[in-house]
Amino acid sequence: MADHNNLVSSTQQITKEALNKLGFDEGMYELIKEPLRFLEVRIPIRMDDGTMQTFTGYRAQHNHAVGPTKGGIRFHPDVTKEEVKALSMWMTLKCGIANLPYGGGKGGIICDPRQMSNQELERLSRAYVRAISQFVGPSSDIPAPDVYTNPQIMSWMMDEYSMINRSNAFAFITGKPLALGGSLGRNRATALGAVITIEEATKRRNISINNSRVVIQGFGNAGSFIAKILHDMGAKIVAISESYGALYDSNGLDIDHLIELKEQHGRVTHLFDDVISNKDLLKLDCDILVPAALSNQITADNANDIKANIIAEAANGPTTQEATRILNERGILLIPDVLASAGGVTVSYFEWVQNNQGYYWSEEEVNTKLRHKMVDAFNNIYDLAHDRKIDMRLAAYVIGIKRTAEASRFRGWA
Ligand code: GLU
Repeated sequence: MADHNNLVSSTQQITKEALNKLGFDEGMYELIKEPLRFLEVRIPIRMDDGTMQTFTGYRAQHNHAVGPTKGGIRFHPDVTKEEVKALSMWMTLKCGIANLPYGGGKGGIICDPRQMSNQELERLSRAYVRAISQFVGPSSDIPAPDVYTNPQIMSWMMDEYSMINRSNAFAFITGKPLALGGSLGRNRATALGAVITIEEATKRRNISINNSRVVIQGFGNAGSFIAKILHDMGAKIVAISESYGALYDSNGLDIDHLIELKEQHGRVTHLFDDVISNKDLLKLDCDILVPAALSNQITADNANDIKANIIAEAANGPTTQEATRILNERGILLIPDVLASAGGVTVSYFEWVQNNQGYYWSEEEVNTKLRHKMVDAFNNIYDLAHDRKIDMRLAAYVIGIKRTAEASRFRGWA
């Protein structure tokens, strides 16, 4: 089983430092260091072969001082309690950074959706909602997609919640298909949000995106859309990767062709003979490096080999704290995960607002509002890091935790 204890402890350590910088005492840290509510449920499901299987699911609600908790549900064999807790704290930070009226939440079910039929996934999704239904809702805790969950799963969950509550509840969950109250722009939102922060970073570093050399680790939802958007802006995407290996071309890869191949075959790197390893990919000479795959990729072992000028963390937790320090000392501009990946939850918020008002926006309106949020978020964090001489991650935590801490104090919780 994956060990996620370090995720919680490093998040707690930076949160403590951030609260310290904001002048809050130990009591505030005690309140914020763990989710206020953590649910663990056991979910029995009938499998297609007639046997029963019991799955374990979690939902963490970190802090609702600012508003309802918000965050995705992941389906993955490596889900652990610790991971879900840490991810719920990161959601608090993302919502604080984008100035959304939410606290953080996160859910997970230990399962391997790649080995399950659609019918089994539907039964599991509905049963999970039944198990947690009393503790979630449009004004208390609003789920969304995350690793290996998608608009279809959101639809089943929305339907189940609506049935239980005997009223249509679009605003219970975000990341839905357009036909069920989803928002235009939601499926590209995480990628577009990351690209907007990269644009802001390049301005600060006097680099032009046009002709810049970009390396992207990961070619999933976030990675492939980031590649496409940057490619269309004139950047040269010199490398992309999947878990099986990486493709590299110093003249720039043909991203449109690779996306077509991905749509046909599900993945792309296995179609080519000439692949390099994910490890070597990180060390390639480039202007912008985008880790958009797994956690713990940039560590003390390879941080000194990174040649990028800007790193945008589109994945959750790709860089360890030790590596963050090394990169900062080396003058590399790091756009931390809680900032670079805040675009998804931001457009989820727009989806929820549209559901609540029953009035839907154009894609242009969604993207313009997203741009405003991300530009402000980047510049607030960059300026704070610069003024206080702290690294970008700590600055992101300071801004991300501020409103939750203030709201908790006003409520009399700490
Ligand atoms: N799962 C996404 C995240 O980690 C989106 C959460 C949401 O849209 O609520 O940011």
